[in-house]
Order: sequence, then structure tokens, then C-alpha cells
Amino acid sequence: MSSQKPKMLLHVCCAPCSTAVIERLKDRFDITGYFYDPNIHPEKEYHRRLDEAKIFYREIGITLIEAPYDLERWFSLTEGMKGEPEGGKRCETCYDMRLEKAAEFAKENGFDIFTTVLSISPHKKAAVINSIGRRLAERYGIRFYEADFKKRDGFKRGLELSREYNLYRQNYCGCIYSKR
Ligand code: SF4
Repeated sequence: MSSQKPKMLLHVCCAPCSTAVIERLKDRFDITGYFYDPNIHPEKEYHRRLDEAKIFYREIGITLIEAPYDLERWFSLTEGMKGEPEGGKRCETCYDMRLEKAAEFAKENGFDIFTTVLSISPHKKAAVINSIGRRLAERYGIRFYEADFKKRDGFKRGLELSREYNLYRQNYCGCIYSKR
């Protein structure tokens, strides 16, 4: 029997950031994860986060789609922005790139709504992410679920669940500039 819940495509950056978001959304949405993160550097780290996400999603019984590692495109879009502080223009471009791919995929594959786990991070401004999501929703003709997942102790809950599932937690956002 097919689920009556709206089909949601959830953009995922890693397993730890997914935990509390999925806990919050799973009763209301039929979730599919979407791993599109060409920002992650180096490639070894990309695969480490992807592999951890695959194991976690398998464990909780949710499909995880792996999108291409468009590294060159990420570097070309963020060219000239390496000196930007975390949370600045480079990050906006980085969110936009990842969310646009998710919106496009969601629309082409019959999803009802899309969103991202990104706002669970205390370093990421939900207002910026939600504004990008609204714009893309309009452009692609699909709903965007607006959220600030760090609120109501979302970030703290993510830490607890990550410990419970024994997940690898990285110590930098992802790109080469955030690693330095
Ligand atoms: S700091 Fe994080 S969000 Fe900002 S550009 Fe780098 S990977 Fe993307």
C-alpha cells in the first residue's frame, strides 16, 4: 500500500545533521534523502561523509540518493569568494547550488516538496536558506519546506542521536576554505 504522506526530497549534507531532522519530519512526510555536496573537500572526506550517510540511512530504512560530485562546478561558482567568512557570500552560493539541484531533482521525479537539513547547524542562517528555497520553489514549481531545525534544541538532539548511532562527526563545514 502506498504512503498517503507527501513525498519529500530531503537534501542531506551528512549523517549527523540528518538525525534530528528526520526524527522531526518522518511522521508527516515520506522522506527520501538526497546527497548532493560537491563542496566537500578533499574527495576522501566526501566519500567518508557519503559512506557514513549511506550506512545511517540504510539503518533507519530511508532511501538515500547519491547525486554527482560536481567539484569543478562548485569551484567555478565560488571563484573569487575564497576570502569570504563562513556564512558570507560563498556560503549563499554553496547553499544555492545544492538546493537548486535538489529542487530540480524533486520536480523531475514526482516529489511533492523539498527541503534541506542545513539549517540544523548553528553556523547556518535559516533566513538565508529559506529565502533561497522559496525562490527555487517558485522557479521549479514545487513546494519548499521552510525550517530552522536548530531551534527547539534541534542541534542538541542531533548531537545526542549522533552519539547514539555512533556516527562520524566532521570538524569543519566542508569546503577547502572552511578546512583551513
Ligand atoms: S563554509 Fe560550508 S557552506 Fe560555506 S562555502 Fe564552505 S562548505 Fe559551503
